[in-house]
Amino acid sequence: MNYKTAIEIRDAIKSGETTATAVVKYYLDKIKAEDGKVGAFLETFDEEALARAEEIDALVKAGAELGRLAGVPIAVKDNILIKGHTASAGSKILADYTAVYDATVITRLREAGAIFIGRTNMDEFGMGSSTETSAYQKTHNPWNLDKIPGGSSGGSVAAVAAGFVPVALGSDTGGSIRQPASLCGVVGMKPTYGRVSRYGLIALASSLDQIGPLCHTAEDAALVLEIMAGKDANDMTTLENSEVAISELLKKDVKGLKIGVPKEFFETGIDPEIEKVVRKAIDVLVEGGAEVIDISLPLTEYALPAYYIIQPGEAASNLARFDGMRYGTRAEGGLQESYKTARGEGFGMEVKRRIMIGNYILSAGYADAYYKKALAVRTAIHTDLAEALKSVDVIIGPTSPSVAWNINEKFNDPVAMYLSDIYTTSANIAGIPSISVPCGFVNDLPVGLQIMAGIGEDYKVIDVASAYQDATDWNTFADNKNEAK
Ligand code: GLN
Repeated sequence: MNYKTAIEIRDAIKSGETTATAVVKYYLDKIKAEDGKVGAFLETFDEEALARAEEIDALVKAGAELGRLAGVPIAVKDNILIKGHTASAGSKILADYTAVYDATVITRLREAGAIFIGRTNMDEFGMGSSTETSAYQKTHNPWNLDKIPGGSSGGSVAAVAAGFVPVALGSDTGGSIRQPASLCGVVGMKPTYGRVSRYGLIALASSLDQIGPLCHTAEDAALVLEIMAGKDANDMTTLENSEVAISELLKKDVKGLKIGVPKEFFETGIDPEIEKVVRKAIDVLVEGGAEVIDISLPLTEYALPAYYIIQPGEAASNLARFDGMRYGTRAEGGLQESYKTARGEGFGMEVKRRIMIGNYILSAGYADAYYKKALAVRTAIHTDLAEALKSVDVIIGPTSPSVAWNINEKFNDPVAMYLSDIYTTSANIAGIPSISVPCGFVNDLPVGLQIMAGIGEDYKVIDVASAYQDATDWNTFADNKNEAK
């Protein structure tokens, strides 16, 4: 098939050059043939996707008005609810849970004509950076099957990188869209907190979580984001006036753009080869007329520790409902016994670790020393970034300090795993939009460029990513990787 992006697919279906049925069949066949090696999907929705494709084709034939994603297949992370389908968040405790309603993003994308093709593997409840904490399977990086794809949205990202689907949905609490996007060479965007409704997203840390798109181009990200975005009565944290037509705002011109490059993003444990690739990418923008301003974000080193207090605190509270009574597989025995068995057997190691940390730091006597302190750090980081963004338009740096590592390499070393989120957590803590765009290779593995801007300036990060993609030629498809370098 010659169409790789959502926009190309939609236009080809609209013009009658191809049909939605042919597109869905192509992707389902490719998944059947190749996903055995990658492990991106937990399940595909073959019948339902083909039936929906036929409906779209009938609309095309009838000359009806089509949605802006008519016939575009989308893969969905296993923590986003699709009515009638399992949503297990990669956890054994939700193995038998069937969603009873659609997440708002699902409703909106479906109205735009999208076709949901399957659900993808993830770290359990989103806790992890390698997709290895899933209770179901390991996902492999399509660029090198011995490597992890990053996480926690590793299944969604691997599906896009392998060419199994043009678009997938992920969620990002501390980097779970951007870090795997960087490690698998795709575009991944975390919107401003509150731009996209969290209704129907299985909560990890509610003050940090955002759903966002994974795809190959900034234009696709703009389209998918603007369809999902906007005020939702079911999520009181959604922002007013967030229905911005981002794709109409793209100027693709960086002349006069002020890029802040924080020195702290190149200090802490970054692979020097990654630094080279990222600096080269910034040079491309400078050639396009942008101006680099060296800045300092002195609180950067505190973002990760603050995140790993706030996140487990909120996660421990959110996960209290999975007790086998209200949610989760019910266990035998009296009340206490039943809770213990359901949670003891239903949760994996990393989830238990976070619940223990979370309950500890929230307990009387420790909350002031840890949780409240972390909240104070959060405010300070927010102020630091807001201050920096007064003198620059965007902040640019690496998405991840390393390229993809070997499967199992960091699995038993939680601190090493947490450190891979060092550059991504700031954006969640401050609620600002951030995108990762492929910018080259180190050791034949993809590297991502991270672009951040102020609250509500989602169009800006997409615009810069789009200008960068126009000026470069990083082929972002692992299935024809030989052409990529
Ligand atoms: N890797 C981070 C964590 O384990 C981020 C997870 C996420 O964004 N869902 O918490």
